[in-house]
Amino acid sequence: MENVVIIGTGCAGLTAAIYTARANLNPLVLTGTMPGGLLTTTSIVENFPGFPEGVDGFELMTKLQKQAERFGARVKFATVEAADLSRRPFKLMVDGEPMETKTIIISTGAGHRHLGLESEHLLDKKGVTYCATCDGALPMFRNQPLVVVGGGDSACEEAMYLTRFGSTVYLIHRRDELRASKIMADRTLANPKIKPVWDSVVTEILDVKQDKVTGVRIKNVKTNAESTLDCAGVFVAIGHVPNTQLFNGVLDMDDAGYLKTTQGSATKVPGVFVAGDCSDRVYRQAVTAAGMGCAAAIDCERFLGSEDN
Ligand code: NAP
Repeated sequence: MENVVIIGTGCAGLTAAIYTARANLNPLVLTGTMPGGLLTTTSIVENFPGFPEGVDGFELMTKLQKQAERFGARVKFATVEAADLSRRPFKLMVDGEPMETKTIIISTGAGHRHLGLESEHLLDKKGVTYCATCDGALPMFRNQPLVVVGGGDSACEEAMYLTRFGSTVYLIHRRDELRASKIMADRTLANPKIKPVWDSVVTEILDVKQDKVTGVRIKNVKTNAESTLDCAGVFVAIGHVPNTQLFNGVLDMDDAGYLKTTQGSATKVPGVFVAGDCSDRVYRQAVTAAGMGCAAAIDCERFLGSEDN
């Protein structure tokens, strides 16, 4: 029987692990399929407090895990396949093995949102990707025109990173103003290798017949004019979808699937707490996820320490 199982090893999960481990709760942390979470796929994180020169995303997550393990957290590469929260102890199915736990901290994060085009699906990993730091250096993208879709911080970060490899980086955004923070937007628009394509959406990724990306068909949403743009890669950076499908119909969620809390990090099921991007549609920063992980750990510790539990 576990005291606390933490699902997910992003900033939220690992911070919850540090705090619950230091509270002598001997937490078990389950990584899911992406240990370290989405931050491991970014390049330099410039806004995490305490790192004046910035810190590599992978390095930050590795250090967080080491810090949690130093205090006794057990980190296991495993995926939760089912969760029965109908009574305590809660029952989890983890890689085919049953597990029981008194409490759960859900910090499952979020995955990349897709454009929803059939051609996007068919050309996935054949020139369509969701991670510039993972794939940008591939030979197929070197000295070629590349496309980034989106107008947020992620799209700007991807576009900036890709200027190291591509000949030109087209930033296709559905409006005429970036959503990204001002510092990122200014830096992006000042880069001579980045060419913004405003008010436009990608309607098709070419060319499924050739089984590789050769360009995109785009539509100007103001004029309805259609055109094509040659490129060797399409990097989709249009936001995220919370990883909460496991709890459909069991925990309360908003219309976009973000988990809802009742008080602090608590959900409507006593003993189940949430933290990070799976329950935050507003801030979604590494440091806010870490803060939410801390809060969930403290709520969990108090719950276990209260008379009835
Ligand atoms: P985001 O801020 O939600 O931006 C998503 C972008 O994609 C928006 O520009 C949106 O357009 C566009 N979009 C959404 N759905 C679309 C669709 N179906 N077709 C075309 N375009 C679509 O997501 P994000 O950039 O991934 O950032 C997520 C969070 O992480 C944010 O809070 C961000 O600040 C943070 N972040 C921070 C950093 C950093 O500080 N270094 C880096 C990365 C991410 P509209 O603008 O029209 O809505």
